[in-house]
Amino acid sequence: MSFKQFGFKSQITNNINNCGYEHPTPIQEEAIPKVMAGKDLLGLAQTGTGKTAAFALPIIQQLIDAPRGKIRALVVAPTRELAEQINQSFIELAKGTGLRTVAIYGGVGKKPQLDAFQRGVDIIIACPGRLLDHLNNHGLKLDKVDTLVLDEADQMFDMGFFPDIRRILKHLPRKRQTLLFSATMPADIRKLADETLTNPEEIRIKLEQPLDLISQALYPVSKRQKSALLLHILKKEPTEGSTLVFTRTKYGAKNLAKKLIKAGFSASALQGNMSQNQRQNALNGFRDGTFSILVATDIAARGIDVSLVAQVVNFDLPSTAEAYTHRIGRTGRAKRSGRAISFICFDDKAMVKAIERLQGKSIKRINVDGFAMAEESEETPKQTRRPARPQHKSKKKLGQRRSSGQQQKRSATKGKAKAKTKTKTNPNKSSSGNIFGLGQK
Ligand code: AMP
Repeated sequence: MSFKQFGFKSQITNNINNCGYEHPTPIQEEAIPKVMAGKDLLGLAQTGTGKTAAFALPIIQQLIDAPRGKIRALVVAPTRELAEQINQSFIELAKGTGLRTVAIYGGVGKKPQLDAFQRGVDIIIACPGRLLDHLNNHGLKLDKVDTLVLDEADQMFDMGFFPDIRRILKHLPRKRQTLLFSATMPADIRKLADETLTNPEEIRIKLEQPLDLISQALYPVSKRQKSALLLHILKKEPTEGSTLVFTRTKYGAKNLAKKLIKAGFSASALQGNMSQNQRQNALNGFRDGTFSILVATDIAARGIDVSLVAQVVNFDLPSTAEAYTHRIGRTGRAKRSGRAISFICFDDKAMVKAIERLQGKSIKRINVDGFAMAEESEETPKQTRRPARPQHKSKKKLGQRRSSGQQQKRSATKGKAKAKTKTKTNPNKSSSGNIFGLGQK
């Protein structure tokens, strides 16, 4: 199958050739004719399948002869990196057409974005928070939008963006074409799809590269030995090409990158507390090989296409089996073989089962001398694990001492309160101060 069948205008065909795309990917084959026919679309597909071009190409074809300077297409994406990446694809695929695009996200100044609106723009690729800000405070209008794309809808849900998305929808014409892409389809995404799509065509595309190209291994280890094990593996079994390491928390990513740098590796962190510039530098440095190791959280790394990743390390396992597949899919791209290694702790047993069930096979375990999984849960609150201290005489009367049950309850409530504050943080907002620019050139 070739791109010819779609009947794209010659400028678009030139741009496709210049991008080096020879044949449409499966999602492009399925989606492009449907989008060109004006249908709404529900696409179950991940990054790496070619889904950006699957919606960008028909949008460009549709707009190529339309009057310029009014926002006719809006793409909403969860992270700044993804918005920037989608924008780059639009720029390349719309070269020479005169169509203007702009990426809109927080963490950077508003002025260049406002200037772009002033000059006139045809396609916006936006993260929800900053887009709403422009709608509410700067008179941005979306009443001429013909096509709306909601990309990585499940990720937007996880990041708490659905209320913002519903607010954005109120600014759009009711009569429009809507395309919704998501890597997974839990009930909340299905509900949003029902609310926003009209008689959608559904397509399901699996990540193209077979998992067989990726050699997977699980390394049993205790939590506190993980960093040492990673250093051991990186030294003993160096890979040609770059390594993408996933941690569960931003703090973990920052800390681990520091340790790797200290041990002499060229590494950088990529996490939400870094400024947009720092994040972009980390990514560029990873892409051009300045950093051979990037330590990232899922949210920071999601949607990023880094085609030359030779090795993925799950320093911490993700919270779903699908996310594991998505993570390791970063390697083994374009029919290259890749390696995915995961550190597994006592408390990961259920997740390992779920991952193996999803793949329909067991993954080999590698035991490294000097490293072993803990023999009991490492999740238990510290005070219950610590051996009881000898009872010293206390000034407090017996009745005043908190029972350990009360203490646990209290620390659980504290934890909840902390978690609550955390979820309130808008990932699109820049973090003022406290910005750590990790990375060693
Ligand atoms: P995406 O899933 O949109 O992030 O795309 C993943 C990667 O595939 C990007 O690097 C695209 O440039 C590339 N790509 C998209 N379409 C094609 C195609 N038809 N042939 C080869 N590469 C493609």
